[in-house]
Order: sequence, then C-alpha cells, then structure tokens
Amino acid sequence: MADREVGALIVGGGVAGAACAEALHEGEFGGQVLLVGREPDPPYERPPASKGYLAGAQDRDACLIHDAGWYAKRSIELATRTSVMRLDTAAREATLSTKEVVEYGVALIATGANVRRLRVDGAQLEGIHYLRALGNADAIRAHAEEAGDIVLIGGSYIACEVAATLTSLGRRCTMVMVEDAPLSTHFGATAGGFFGALLRERGVELVCGDALERLEGSQRVERVVTASGREIAADMVVMGTGAMPDVMLARAAKLELGETGGVACSADLETSARGVWAAGDVCEYDSVLHGGPVRIEHFEVARAQGRAAAAAMLGTRRPYEELPYFWTDLSDWATAEWVGITEAPEREVVRGDVDGGAFSVFHLAGGRMVAALSVGRGGDLPHAQRLIAAGTELSGREAALVDGDPDAL
Ligand SMILES: Cc1cc2nc3c(=O)[nH]c(=O)nc-3n(C[C@H](O)[C@H](O)[C@H](O)COP(=O)(O)OP(=O)(O)OC[C@H]3O[C@@H](n4cnc5c(N)ncnc54)[C@H](O)[C@@H]3O)c2cc1C
Repeated sequence: MADREVGALIVGGGVAGAACAEALHEGEFGGQVLLVGREPDPPYERPPASKGYLAGAQDRDACLIHDAGWYAKRSIELATRTSVMRLDTAAREATLSTKEVVEYGVALIATGANVRRLRVDGAQLEGIHYLRALGNADAIRAHAEEAGDIVLIGGSYIACEVAATLTSLGRRCTMVMVEDAPLSTHFGATAGGFFGALLRERGVELVCGDALERLEGSQRVERVVTASGREIAADMVVMGTGAMPDVMLARAAKLELGETGGVACSADLETSARGVWAAGDVCEYDSVLHGGPVRIEHFEVARAQGRAAAAAMLGTRRPYEELPYFWTDLSDWATAEWVGITEAPEREVVRGDVDGGAFSVFHLAGGRMVAALSVGRGGDLPHAQRLIAAGTELSGREAALVDGDPDAL
C-alpha cells in the first residue's frame, strides 16, 4: 500500500532528470512531479568537474542546473540525498531510502553512470582518484595542491581535461594511454595528433600505446608500472577509465537491458515496462539515425533525451532522432566540438589548418559523412550536421568539403 501518489517519478538527479522535470513543468503536466536524487546537491552539470570547477575558477552554485528554489517555485518536489531502492513496475510503486512508498503514474529512469574501476594490483592504495561527482573534483584539487607527480590513466576526454586543468594550475602531469594519441578513439587520427602535440607543448608528458599494469606503493601510491615495464613516479593517480551505466535499480526491477549494458528502450525512449522511460547515460535506445541500439554519454544528449521523455509522458510520442553533439575543453588551450553517429572511422577529410589550431575533420564512411569534429572552426558544424543527418551521398564531391562551399553540397 503506497504512502502517497505522484503523477511523475524521476529517478536520478542529473541533467537528464532535471531536463525531464523542466519540460514536464513547461508542458503543464497535470500531476505532482517528484525528482529523486542520491547526491547532496540539486542536479548539476558534470562537465565543470574536470574543467572550471576543478580549476577553482567556477564555484559549486555556478554548476547547478537550477538552484533548489527554482524547483520549489514550480511545485517540483526535489528529494536530494534520497535513493529509489526498489521499483515495482506492475504496481507502479517505488520504495525510497526514506522507506516511503510512492505510487506513480509515469516514471523516468535517469540513473546515469558510475566510473569504471580497474581491478589491477595496487588499486586499493591511497591516492588513487576517480572523477564523476563534484566531491571527487574537490578531492582531486586538494590532493593536487601537494602532489609533485600526477599520473592520469586513459586517453579519453576525462584524462585529457584533468591533465590540462592540473597542468594549468602548475602541476606536473603524465598521461598513460593504450591509444596511439589522446582523444583519437573518439575524434580520429588527425585530431589525436593535434591534441597530442598540444598537450606535450603545454608540458604534459604522454605515454601512448602502453597500458596500466599495476600500481605500487606501501600504503599510498608511489609508482605506476605499465605493461611495457615502464615505471613512472606518482604521488597521485587519476583514473579516466570510462563509465558504466548504473542499471542496479533497473535490473532489480526486471527491466530489459540492452547489448551495451544500458536500459533497453524503444525509439521513443520507453523501457520494457509501460509508462517507464529512460534518458541519459543509462539509456540504450533503438536509434533510427544509427540504425540500431546505441547508448551515448554526452551532456547535451542527456538533456535532450530528458526533454524527449517528458514529451512522451505528455502524450507526444516520436522517435528520438537528434544528432549527438559533444564538446571538450582542454583548459583554455583548445575546445573541440563534435557531431556524429560514428566514432572515428578511417576515412578523414580535413579542412583548415591543423597546425594553426583552426580546422575541421569530416569523417566519411560508405560515401557519406558520419561525423565531424571542429577546433576553432565551429561554423563548419551546422553544414556537417545537415549532411550527416540527411545522409547526403558525397562521392566525387569531397573536394568541396576541403575548400569549397559546403552549402553547395
Ligand atoms: C568529469 C566529467 C566531465 C564531463 N565533461 C563532458 C563534456 O565536456 N561534454 C559532454 O558532452 N559530456 C561530458 N560529460 C558527460 C556528461 O556529464 C554526462 O553524459 C551526463 O552528466 C549524463 O547525465 P545523466 O543525467 O544521464 O546522468 P548523471 O549525471 O550520472 O546523473 C544520474 C544521477 O542519478 C543518481 N542515481 C543513480 N541511481 C539512483 C537511484 N536509485 N536513486 C536516486 N538517484 C540515483 C546518481 O547518483 C546521479 O546523481 C562529463 C562527465 C564527467 C563525469
């Protein structure tokens, strides 16, 4: 027997959950909206945790999507420091960590992702950090103030951004990655070369094509040992080793899970339980654009999916077809923006001046553009976006991508 009823239950206080609550309010959803989040803060933006907030240039309040008063004024009940412990999708009931049982009309699973922890020898030593929440950024910044040698594991955006931020604060950073170049998995070889050169030029040491083998030290970490046998002194280590969708609640509720490990959803983001949608890092949806199931861990995608789920709850059901957009900032050294449906395929067409730091890379597959990356040439992206979304056949007209008028394509 439920203690009370709400119209919409949103599980997870990240950007996807906040965007859903916001769109429900804008769409004049009739019932009470309850947004339940396990963290102490109201929903906030995670990107500053590796950038301005980590640098100490942006304070905690500036990271909030809205302050607590914003929700209160809109009759959105925000329960922070609260978890949904159990979801019964047949009875449409949720049990909260407060022991309260809430009956809901519709629900959103927006439980996000957790860091992927590496189980190597020495992983339990002190001085090893992961980064997901603002609290992790606080710990990294505090520790970095006294650390001489900082090692970052990974070649993706978290490790690159943290290395850039801490180097800008005057710290000595070394990155260890299996990739041949930083950011190359996502952005391709040309961009990888550019970011590798940029990081080196600014003083970051790069160890590429090598994997973390183990961490050594007596109580605290003192050394990183790589698969090739290299030993790197480390007073602290930051692991940028990816994230895994948080499906604990969904799995226990017997929601269908997908092939990427996320919550399996239809094209309009509904899960296998009627009236329960998913959005954000946890959502694996049947994408019309990608031609199959996909799960995307980007901020703007989480926001757009939260809004799309709200639209479906309000009665407008349509496939989620927005082209994924992602950006990364390496301190104030460079910003890269990316749109696309596929990570770094082999074929690249470059426009602009890579060495000068103003270029776009168009990724092609099967005669069509499937992704585009831009550094200092953001004006190229809308054209690329249009070509990717329309699936325009480009064969024989690639020269126009390099120096022609993209509008003519
Ligand atoms: C350091 C960092 C930097 C980033 N930088 C960028 C960037 O530059 N550009 C970009 O596009 N993306 C970036 N991202 C990725 C982006 O932030 C994520 O894609 C986005 O935050 C996902 O939002 P979400 O709402 O799906 O999940 P999350 O933000 O993970 O929020 C989910 C919330 O749900 C809570 N929760 C889980 N289970 C329960 C439960 N049972 N009950 C209650 N609450 C629960 C979690 O504690 C969490 O607070 C970055 C991520 C990180 C960590």
